[in-house]
Amino acid sequence: MSEIHCLKCEQTAEPITDNLFMGKLEQELKANVCGNCWNEWARPGGVKTMVINEYQLNLGDENGRAALKKQMRSFFKLPDAETEFKDYRH
Ligand SMILES: [Zn+2]
Repeated sequence: MSEIHCLKCEQTAEPITDNLFMGKLEQELKANVCGNCWNEWARPGGVKTMVINEYQLNLGDENGRAALKKQMRSFFKLPDAETEFKDYRH
């Protein structure tokens, strides 16, 4: 697989290789986010977990999943991200 330009870290880097099972969004992520940044988000105890805890998101609920997706877009700086990502780790 060829390298991609990552919108998050602004580096040319290895793409995501995992199967994300996210449909259309998966293609967008794989074209714009590197493996390292994805890992930062998705790893156990990573940013995704932080967001779920911070906003007390219920992923069994459609609103919860939509809110998580919105946070994910802003974290990865995807083109139509609506909000700036607030990083609680700093
Ligand atoms: Zn990256």
